[in-house]
Amino acid sequence: MVNILANVGIILMAVYFYLRTSSGWHAETKKTNSDVVYSIVLEVLVGIALLNFSTVIDGLRFDFRFLLFCFSSKYLDWKVTSSSILLLAIARFWWGQDQVSQANLFASILLAVALPILAAFLQNKWNNLVQLNILVSFCMWPTILLSYFLINDTVQVIHLSLTLMAVGYASVYVLHHFIFDLCYLILSASTDHLTGLKNVRTFHRELVTMEQKGNLMSMVVIDIDYFKDYNDCFGHDNGDATLRQLADLFCAQKIPDATFYRIGGEEFALLIENKQPEKVEEYVHMIQKVVAENEFLTTLGDPISLTVSSGVAHRRNEESLKKTLKRADNALYQAKRSGRNKVMVAVLH
Ligand code: GH3
Ligand code: MG
Ligand code: MG
Repeated sequence: MVNILANVGIILMAVYFYLRTSSGWHAETKKTNSDVVYSIVLEVLVGIALLNFSTVIDGLRFDFRFLLFCFSSKYLDWKVTSSSILLLAIARFWWGQDQVSQANLFASILLAVALPILAAFLQNKWNNLVQLNILVSFCMWPTILLSYFLINDTVQVIHLSLTLMAVGYASVYVLHHFIFDLCYLILSASTDHLTGLKNVRTFHRELVTMEQKGNLMSMVVIDIDYFKDYNDCFGHDNGDATLRQLADLFCAQKIPDATFYRIGGEEFALLIENKQPEKVEEYVHMIQKVVAENEFLTTLGDPISLTVSSGVAHRRNEESLKKTLKRADNALYQAKRSGRNKVMVAVLH
């Protein structure tokens, strides 16, 4: 029982770690090679911890590595799942080169190929809980079959299989809800509820990471012109709806290596990496034009137009991004002072 609890505890930790990694919880999210390597290392370490807490009955190890693989195939990249399954099987084989570890190696190779294919097939069918239960059922069978061949006591095999199934399905149920709540928490802490853009907290956290990378970087601060009057005229609810439409419009521009954030009430930031200053300024002028030409829908009838002012600052060599932000803010102030609906660029030298 202690081992079962330890297994479930370790899986909970694993799921939490997955969620914390940038590649963590959206199968659709673009993953970098370092995300993948990081997730593989994590999954193998968690798998080794599970192996350590396994219960050995007649040479057969019982643990919940299969749960780990199910969550991995559902929420991570197939490269992570397949590599981890194979690496753990090799570790297990290296640990004790007996008949069982050979059978485990064989079963793991099959699982490494079949599980990601099954997960991809299930992706848009039924809900997440059903998908996870199908994946778990699929993963439990090698262990149940192995125990049938290795343990000559049918009653014990049935007992073990039922325990495995009961704990397996119950854990999937608990972990599924745990993931849902945790995802919700992580999302609400990092994104803005109104527009869905990354929020100001994420903005400052990502500035720190980007500063360490030392890439070519430009910062743009965008502020809606006369938005107070807009609210007074059309009401706060229409103001909110306009903020949402504006955020959608920003994202629809599909600027490469660019991230939009909502950093204040009607203030947005745009970070653009690895682009020459002239290219960045071209993008900002395009945004300016697209916003001015867009028709925003309100509940009051006719579409409304609005404008934004933007301050741009290109990061100087070794300059802290806080300083770059300050220069972008000053440029925005200049844009407001010179009549609004303008793009102002902070001097680079
Ligand atoms: P300008 O920037 O051109 O100087 O004028 P402004 O009227 O936009 O400037 P100011 O910063 O003084 O006012 C910002 C207004 O934005 C105040 C508030 O009514 C509105 N605002 C801020 N946050 C929200 C929000 O979440 N929803 C809505 N509807 N309005 C907001
Ligand atoms: Mg404003
Ligand atoms: Mg403002």
